[in-house]
Amino acid sequence: MNIIRTLVSSTLAATLLLSCGAGRKESRDSAAVTPDSKTTQTRFFSADSAYANIVRQVSFGPRVPGTPAHRACGDWLASRLKGFGAEVMEQKAELTTFDGTRIPMRNIFARFNPEAEKRTLLLAHWDTRPWADNDPDPALHKTPIDGANDGASGVGVLLELARLAGEGHISHGIDILLCDAEDWGTENNDESWAMGARYFVNHPPVEGYMPQTAILLDMVGAHGATFMREYFSQQAAPALADKIWATAASLGHSAMFVNRMGSAVNDDHVELIKGGIPAIDIIDYREDSGFFSGWHTTADNMDCISRETLEAVGTTMETFLGN
Ligand SMILES: [Zn+2]
Repeated sequence: MNIIRTLVSSTLAATLLLSCGAGRKESRDSAAVTPDSKTTQTRFFSADSAYANIVRQVSFGPRVPGTPAHRACGDWLASRLKGFGAEVMEQKAELTTFDGTRIPMRNIFARFNPEAEKRTLLLAHWDTRPWADNDPDPALHKTPIDGANDGASGVGVLLELARLAGEGHISHGIDILLCDAEDWGTENNDESWAMGARYFVNHPPVEGYMPQTAILLDMVGAHGATFMREYFSQQAAPALADKIWATAASLGHSAMFVNRMGSAVNDDHVELIKGGIPAIDIIDYREDSGFFSGWHTTADNMDCISRETLEAVGTTMETFLGN
């Protein structure tokens, strides 16, 4: 993902503002959770399990599309989701990246409780960036990254939520989309990112597929993370974002879920919004420094990952999905 720096004049932002009006309207029927009302709901989310899910993904090596590590990790992800009782569908296609590389794209889509009418789509990207082009050492700019935070953390949390869904602890009908080919992008080319999510929107795996809402988790595992309100999410689904930030506050996580506008981020959720799905992005963005310091560097490894951050994100999601 990348940050849209020239937001006010951005044609993408203007287009989105227009196209959002034509899409599905998010429901505003349920009131936001009242901050500070400590919930008594029993929680099952395990940050240790989410952490182990990240360790496992990183152990395959960088999950760069077209590599054996990517294939093996994709097989593992699909089998984990099946093991939790999901109906799993895969989308495979050969796509061309901005630099002309042909890559085997593989989206993994899992459905729990398919009869439930109230459906939430949860997504994260599982591929990793092929290059550490933001590394302070230019000699490492062509080195693929571990992507412990950028990629594996969101997937790690979603796999743990999948376990909970499989055990009947989540009342919503949830669909989980592990998107491929998010991170093979380049600056100043908005279309070069989020190729898997774009493919998903253009080729719905279920005819007429249209979840009520969608929540993207991206970079949700780092030490010192802050999750600020993101611009496109705010345009597309402000009431959903209100509820998530209020849920986090009710659990005591208002210092991490900072209820102020952060930046505009070009990420997988933008593709869903363009397709008419109200979507938000929960993404680590720091008021003073932007993305976490390991972003697109060789330092995006397990040393970045904090169980405390995973716990805050995971329990917020679990509480939201249980209500
Ligand atoms: Zn990235």
